[in-house]
Amino acid sequence: MKLENDKNCSWINDLNPRTNIKVLNTNEDCDWLIIGAGFTGLSAARKLNQLNPSQKIILVDAQLAGEGASSRNSGYLVDTTLNDGFTSNKELENYKKKADIYKLGIESVKRFIKEHQVDCDWNECGKYFASSKTEDRRILENFSETLLKLGFEHNILTNNDLKSKLGTNFYNIALHTKGGILLHPGKLVRAMIDTLPENVNLYENSFLIDWKKTNDIINCNFKNGTIKTKKIIFATNGFLKSLGIKKHYNFPITLTASMTRPLNDREFKSLGQPKEWGVLPVRPMGATIRMTKDRRILIRNTAEVYNPYKMSKSELEKRSIQQKKGIKKRFPQLPDDIIQSTWSGIVSRTRNSSQIFEKLDNNIFVAGCYNGSGIGVGTLFGEQIAIRASDEHTKEIEIIEARNKPTWLPPQPFLDFGVKARLIYERIRARSEI
Ligand SMILES: Cc1cc2nc3c(=O)[nH]c(=O)nc-3n(C[C@H](O)[C@H](O)[C@H](O)COP(=O)(O)OP(=O)(O)OC[C@H]3O[C@@H](n4cnc5c(N)ncnc54)[C@H](O)[C@@H]3O)c2cc1C
Repeated sequence: MKLENDKNCSWINDLNPRTNIKVLNTNEDCDWLIIGAGFTGLSAARKLNQLNPSQKIILVDAQLAGEGASSRNSGYLVDTTLNDGFTSNKELENYKKKADIYKLGIESVKRFIKEHQVDCDWNECGKYFASSKTEDRRILENFSETLLKLGFEHNILTNNDLKSKLGTNFYNIALHTKGGILLHPGKLVRAMIDTLPENVNLYENSFLIDWKKTNDIINCNFKNGTIKTKKIIFATNGFLKSLGIKKHYNFPITLTASMTRPLNDREFKSLGQPKEWGVLPVRPMGATIRMTKDRRILIRNTAEVYNPYKMSKSELEKRSIQQKKGIKKRFPQLPDDIIQSTWSGIVSRTRNSSQIFEKLDNNIFVAGCYNGSGIGVGTLFGEQIAIRASDEHTKEIEIIEARNKPTWLPPQPFLDFGVKARLIYERIRARSEI
C-alpha cells in the first residue's frame, strides 16, 4: 500500500523544497512512537519532548511531513462553525462545548506562533458565512441568536455591503463573525517541522503497514524497517480507519481545492480591490472560497467518498472544471484559464461531527477527526494527547473530555451507501452555491 498525493498544492509549492529527508530503513526501538506528521502528530511530538526530554521519540509519516491535509486545507482557523448540526437552541449546550474547544485550538496555535515568531500570513479578519439565496437569511438569523447567547461578535450583511467587501455580487446574505483567522497552512505546518526538537527523530516516506501489541511492546512494520515502542500515538486522521483504529467511528472523505494565479492589477481593480477575505457556505456542500493576501482565489466545492490513497490526474481535472465554474459564477470577468493548481486532501469524519481523543488500550493513544477545524483543534489535540499519554492532567483535557463522544457507524456496505446518499442530497440542496 502506498499513499500517493498529487504534487499540485499551491500552499506547498509556495515554499522551498525540504532537504535532509530521512527514510526508515533500519530496525529501531523507542519510548514513544507517533504515526502521522500533520498538525496533530507534530504538536504531539513537540509536547512529548517537553514532558519527557530524556526519552527517545520517533515521528513517522507515509509521505513528506505536513504534506497531507495539514498543508492542503483552506487555511481558516475557526472560532465558530455553522454546518455541524448544532445551531438550534436545544443544542446550545453542545454548541458551546464545541466552541470552547475551538477557542483552545486558536490559543494553542497563537502560543506556537508567538513562541517561534512564525510568519504564516496570520490575518484576524474574521470570516463570512454567505449565501446567494435570500431565504437563507432564516438560517443565519437562527445562527445569529446562538452566537449572541454565547457572546460571539458578528453582524449580518446584504448584497451591496457584500459586493464592496468581496468583489462579487453573487452573494445576497451573509453573517460575518469577527473571530476566526485566515492563514497560510503550508507556512504554519512547515514552521512546526522546522522547530521540531532535536530529540525527535523524524522519518518520512515511511508507510506503517501494520502494528501489533505483544505484552507491553508495540511492534510496527514499515516497508524497509521495524520499530518497537513502549507507547504509541496514532495521528493519521483520515487514515485511522485503514489502520483499524476506531474503525466503527470514523471514515475518510476526499476534498479537492483549486487556486488561481495572483490576479493582475486590472483584474483586481475589476473586483474593486477588496481586502483579504474568506467565505464559508451556509449550506454544507456549498463552496468555501477565499481571496488571499497576495490576490489569489482559492475555491473548494467538492466532498466525496473516494479512494483516500490516490486521485489520478484525470479525476483531478474533472474537479478542476467544477471549480472553474464556481469561480466563473462569482467573478465572470476573470479569464477561463486562471486556475493554477488543483489538489486533493483527506479529512476524517464521524457521524455526529465529534472528535476522537482517546486511550485505546494501555500505552496506545489516538487523536483525530476534526472535519474542517483541524488547524486549531489538531494542534490542541496533539499537545493534549501527549500530556494525557504522559499521565498528566490539564483543564484543556477536562474540556475536551466533556465533548459529545463520536457515535457508532453502520458497517459496510451500508456506511458507504448512507454517506454517498447524504452527500448527494446535500449537493442538490446546495447546487446554486457550488
Ligand atoms: C481541502 C481541505 C480544506 C480544509 N479546510 C480546512 C480549514 O479551512 N480549516 C481547518 O481547520 N481545517 C481544514 N481542513 C481539515 C484539516 O486540514 C485537517 O483537519 C488537519 O490537517 C488534520 O491534521 P492531522 O495532523 O490530524 O492530519 P493530517 O494532516 O491528515 O496528517 C496525517 C498524516 O498521517 C500520515 N499517514 C497516514 N497513514 C499513514 C501510515 N499508514 N503510515 C504513516 N503515516 C501515515 C499522512 O501521510 C499524513 O501526513 C481541510 C482539509 C482539506 C483536505
